[in-house]
Amino acid sequence: MGGSTRRYTTSEAEGTVEKRSRKEIIEEALKKDLPYLRFEKELEREFLDHYFRHSLNQARFAMFLGSVFYAAYGLLDYIMFSEVKTTFWAIRYGIILPGLLLVFIALFFIKTERMLQIWLSLAILLAGSSVVVYNKIILGDFYIGLILIILFGCVVLPLRFRYAAISSLAVTSAYIGIIGINIHQKPVPVNNVFDLITANAFGLFACYLLEKYKRKEYLQLCLLNLEKDKLRELSLVDGLTNIANRRAFNDFFSREWSRAQRFGHTVALLLIDVDHFKLYNDALGHQAGDECLCRIAGVLNLYRRRASDFVARYGGEEFVFMLLGASSEYAIEVAEAIRMKVKDLQIPHPASGIDRNVTISIGVAFCVPTREMEKEELIKMADKALYQAKRNGRNRVVFLQDH
Ligand code: GH3
Ligand code: MG
Ligand code: MG
Repeated sequence: MGGSTRRYTTSEAEGTVEKRSRKEIIEEALKKDLPYLRFEKELEREFLDHYFRHSLNQARFAMFLGSVFYAAYGLLDYIMFSEVKTTFWAIRYGIILPGLLLVFIALFFIKTERMLQIWLSLAILLAGSSVVVYNKIILGDFYIGLILIILFGCVVLPLRFRYAAISSLAVTSAYIGIIGINIHQKPVPVNNVFDLITANAFGLFACYLLEKYKRKEYLQLCLLNLEKDKLRELSLVDGLTNIANRRAFNDFFSREWSRAQRFGHTVALLLIDVDHFKLYNDALGHQAGDECLCRIAGVLNLYRRRASDFVARYGGEEFVFMLLGASSEYAIEVAEAIRMKVKDLQIPHPASGIDRNVTISIGVAFCVPTREMEKEELIKMADKALYQAKRNGRNRVVFLQDH
């Protein structure tokens, strides 16, 4: 529920503390189309957290798959480079593959998105550097492997753009550096370098778009959740008085009743009914009746002093006030105070016959719920107390307790 009302400080750096709602920040980000792949501080943190939780499985699966393929390329070492295969195998199976498996295992222990990105980048650097070393040995002939590793980093691993860019460009630069050294021994076809740069451009472009879509998708999800929160909030609020409605009360009552049963807390239920309200409506009109109900709801809100106090419109001109863990004396005190306060509002009631102003009657039911007791029994008790209050002349509080 808090989602829609949360506000963010957005320009503290400039000294002004301007606050915008979460919805405004999200809508603005969507409008800007996220060219820099970055949100404002708090939203960015939330996104990274979301991204981390949703990409961890992909990372594990991709690392497993990548390691299997990397190991399988040992066959190519045997077929294509049989004269140096033992050196290649020593690098592939003795250094790099254990490194990749270490990254794979690390993915089961890391806790932050940054660490995820660092470990995945490390995998690209590891695999890429092995290809660079092979090229040092065979004089820059085999670069396709590097293209595959770059594409793997850009689109198969959940690497974010900046990490994919750093690791891809690092291995590409290392390859170009090695060619530069080798060129004195054997000229390397210049198209190797061109192909690699093109692979970087295509891969990183795809990676950029992927991250952008993921960010947009996240923003849409946030907006949807905000709408959901708002709807949920609306479905629990009474449209006229703006206090909780009966559905919210039922939810609260069920939850707190079980808790009171478990912990042996007291529950006090005040059932509040406006006296001769039909006559009030008949005399002053329905709209005046509505205003009167709103003012009474305002009084009830005033007496909601503890976090566990709950006020709701029960229906028509009836309200409930629930106190948890309170003594019976305190519940009666609150009921009396509410009754007096409503009378003190001095809302004229020309047809009441009891008083010149609007008055209320309150039935108070009190119990410590046992395991066998149904919560409806407490409502029945409050109803009975209210009935007695009406019968005894209205404008009063009647208390009933379960023994
Ligand atoms: P009692 O003292 O016995 O409670 O008499 P009463 O007239 O208050 O009780 P009754 O149940 O006969 O009438 C309740 C009235 O409350 C009838 C209905 O028109 C009015 N009422 C219920 N909901 C609303 C509402 O939302 N707005 C207005 N203005 N009146 C309402
Ligand atoms: Mg009534
Ligand atoms: Mg009434």
